[in-house]
Amino acid sequence: MRLPRLLRYPLLRLLFRERFKLLNELLQNQQLSRKTLHQQQHQKLVALLKYAVQRVPFYHQQLGTMDWSNFPDSLPILHKSDFIHQQDQLLDRQANRSTLKKGYTGGSTGTPLSYYYNKHKIELMRAAHYRSFMQCGWRPGDPILQFWGASQDLSSRPTLAEHIKNTISGELTVDANHFDEQTLQQWCKTLNQHQPILIRGYPSILAALAHHMVENKIQPSQKIKGCFSTAEVLYPQQRSIIEQAFHCKVYNQYGSREIPNISCECPHGKQHIYSDLVWLESLKIDHAEQLVATSLTNYLQPLIRYTLGDSGSLEEGNCSCGSPFPMMKMEVCRSNDLIHIADGSQLHPSKLIHLLDEIEGIEQFQFTQHQLEVITLQVVTLSTLPPSTEALLKTRFAEQITPAIQLNIESVQLIDRGASGKYRFVRSNLS
Ligand SMILES: [Zn+2]
Repeated sequence: MRLPRLLRYPLLRLLFRERFKLLNELLQNQQLSRKTLHQQQHQKLVALLKYAVQRVPFYHQQLGTMDWSNFPDSLPILHKSDFIHQQDQLLDRQANRSTLKKGYTGGSTGTPLSYYYNKHKIELMRAAHYRSFMQCGWRPGDPILQFWGASQDLSSRPTLAEHIKNTISGELTVDANHFDEQTLQQWCKTLNQHQPILIRGYPSILAALAHHMVENKIQPSQKIKGCFSTAEVLYPQQRSIIEQAFHCKVYNQYGSREIPNISCECPHGKQHIYSDLVWLESLKIDHAEQLVATSLTNYLQPLIRYTLGDSGSLEEGNCSCGSPFPMMKMEVCRSNDLIHIADGSQLHPSKLIHLLDEIEGIEQFQFTQHQLEVITLQVVTLSTLPPSTEALLKTRFAEQITPAIQLNIESVQLIDRGASGKYRFVRSNLS
């Protein structure tokens, strides 16, 4: 049953008061001049640093005697390995742990990690998503259809409260971890039943659906205003087929679970950095231009000059869309393969990375499908992986992925980056 938006919108505002308050602030920020935004960004950075030195043990130790004369260039870089090893030291010492949740990310760059979050972080993340979505003409409460690959975000049995929230928000999320021809047909039916104004998902999944629609001459039965691509690199051929199938523009969103909403593409095709939420730099690290971000809003577990593991550069100039936010260019540095199963179906790579959720001590990993029936998981670990963990991974693989593929686990010193030098966490020699 679908309630009309006129009825749902006031309920939505009532249910998510904090989100709408934050959205209001974010919308006001995009009315500011670039100069004012830049000044505010600097003030936010100084305030965050002062807080972190006072309240966060890691930064108290690292920056307690900081020389401000060369600020902010003198700030040290926070590598993913620091984040993994100093997890608790990076937490606000006065945080009420009983109200915190722990999230896990396989990390699209192949380094699994966990992080703390609270309700405020989620509401701010959603408010910033709303701001991005509104660029295409979507309004809060308009139906959204999401094709999602991250198992931890999908409830196998939504609670009544979740069901009510989804009904009011008009959001429907489809589990897109594993799909075949039949699933694609089902998704087309869902598309016509749910009648979304906006579609969001991993580009590899949206492109597979788009191919199916184009090949079978299936048209969306309603006007879709925008397709938002997230969590993976968006390739030009994916963009092209998605735009062809859904008759709307594709917007590329960039962020991570640790630091969401870093940038989003505008209607004029430029990638704008949300400088009211992050301070983004492109720095030369290990002979490559790497994106380094500071979340200006995360006081719970401050991440200052955090290496995202992605490549990209900042772009000078102004955009004809009129947005005051500065611009960036993404480099294609992540490329993961779909996994093939003997029954002809394909599996999204994100399904594999979540096998490692809650398993501590793995610094890096890579899954490689050598044959249809064999996948090897290579791990770089802090100490030898206990046999019980190996057994747990194999059981999870058989239960959550497929019993049709055998999982082998190998401990290695280093993960091979392959000829391109670009790290991929899921490779298939069959792709
Ligand atoms: Zn623009």
